[in-house]
Amino acid sequence: MKAAGYLVRVDNLGRIVIPVRIRRALDLHNDSCLELFTEEDRIIMRRYQAVCAFCGSEESLTEYKEKHICAHCLEAINKSRV
Ligand SMILES: [Zn+2]
Repeated sequence: MKAAGYLVRVDNLGRIVIPVRIRRALDLHNDSCLELFTEEDRIIMRRYQAVCAFCGSEESLTEYKEKHICAHCLEAINKSRV
């Protein structure tokens, strides 16, 4: 995505408003989850998409201790424990 050059202010609770054009471009909705990173003097945001910790799949995920695992990997682990 090309830099949009929007100027936003941080309010007293640390919130910012993401301009609607950016939200639409990234398909962000209420309750969309974002990951934030810092890199030197930059804040980098990206839409959070849970993926399997083992294979990177986004399908059929189960959460355990704040990690995600897909049904295929879970089945493979269960079979290996026999
Ligand atoms: Zn997996």
